Amino acid sequence: MNAAVIQDVDCAVIGAGISGLSAGYWLARRGISVEVIEAAARPGGVIGTECAGGLLYERGPNSILDTNPHIARLLENVGVLDRRIEASAVSAKRFVVRSGKLVALPTSLAAFLTTRLFSSRAKLALLREPFVAPAPTELDEAVADFVVRRLGHEFLNYAIEPFVAGIYAGNAEQLSLRAAFPKLHALEQRYGSLIKGQIYGARERARRIEKPRSVAASFSFRDGMQTLTDALAGALPRLRGAGRAAALLVAVATLTLVGNFVLYLVALDHATPSVTQVVIQLAPLLLLVGGVVVFHEKLAGIQWAGFAILVTGLLLFFNDRLPELLRPSEGIGLGVALTVAAAISWAIYGLAQKLLLRHFTARFAPI
Ligand SMILES: Cc1cc2nc3c(=O)[nH]c(=O)nc-3n(C[C@H](O)[C@H](O)[C@H](O)COP(=O)(O)OP(=O)(O)OC[C@H]3O[C@@H](n4cnc5c(N)ncnc54)[C@H](O)[C@@H]3O)c2cc1C
Repeated sequence: MNAAVIQDVDCAVIGAGISGLSAGYWLARRGISVEVIEAAARPGGVIGTECAGGLLYERGPNSILDTNPHIARLLENVGVLDRRIEASAVSAKRFVVRSGKLVALPTSLAAFLTTRLFSSRAKLALLREPFVAPAPTELDEAVADFVVRRLGHEFLNYAIEPFVAGIYAGNAEQLSLRAAFPKLHALEQRYGSLIKGQIYGARERARRIEKPRSVAASFSFRDGMQTLTDALAGALPRLRGAGRAAALLVAVATLTLVGNFVLYLVALDHATPSVTQVVIQLAPLLLLVGGVVVFHEKLAGIQWAGFAILVTGLLLFFNDRLPELLRPSEGIGLGVALTVAAAISWAIYGLAQKLLLRHFTARFAPI
């Protein structure tokens, strides 16, 4: 991490996934200066939409469950509420293959009691779930072990495995419950049982004005899920500012590098190469002075000694031609003046590059 990036903010948020971006957004809205720092080249984390051949592809999540009023508030604030599209009602029906046949996933208690997806034995086994002891807090249990321990094999095969494959395209035997489904882990730890957690948790959800997942609407955006993370990244004032500042610095660096080249070439028409080569040594000297003025760098004694030697050398070199140098409109005076301008131009280019390091490094780029 580049320490210079975060030196003048109240708060640094590491990671520009949906969590970091929304945390950064609300902090900024409260007037707290915040920097969201991202290791990847683009914001959004696992959320990312690709468009090819007129089709949208989602790299990660493809929809959001509207379980909480804070979600609509966030969309409204970042200006994407009207780009929201609802999932088709048909998609609420999910099917799982059992014994070679598609069976609808039950969405209510009555449907669960009558479904052919789970055997009567598996349904009855649910009655023992509230009495299964919770796992030790420190255990990092796999999703599959957790489900078999609490609900049995059929729930793993016909409910959780398809769900895990849909979300993570992963293997329930290998996924960590705590990392992949932190809410389930918390439910067991807090209430000792998933069923008890569902019952007691309902009161808590009602207090937070949350809708249960089974009835919450599912939605995305016309241009895909990245609409939300792009809008959040664009709405972070500091990040937007940093982007403009970086663009300006790139422009300054480009112009001054070109300026250095052109000025030095023209200077060669008015002074000999041996003169211009000596004078252009002012460039690192000016960069050194710029470092002290702009970055408040502290020079060591040996650097000050080098500085003094360079200035003395220049004065000695031009000793007998100083009066000529004071008339920069003609002869060698003009050549030297142009070389000094080239040196100043190069020093500004160097300083702009140093400032750009705050925005870009080899493996780090704030959005
Ligand atoms: C394939 C897939 C499908 C999913 N489908 C759905 C779905 O349909 N609906 C749903 O609600 N949820 C879905 N999820 C879950 C949901 O997408 C994630 O829970 C959520 O996007 C995670 O967001 P996050 O910001 O917490 O983490 P991430 O998106 O992982 O973001 C973390 C960010 O932090 C950055 N970072 C990490 N370490 C550092 C560091 N040291 N310095 C700087 N940056 C760092 C990373 O580069 C990354 O950009 C899905 C997940 C996956 C993987």
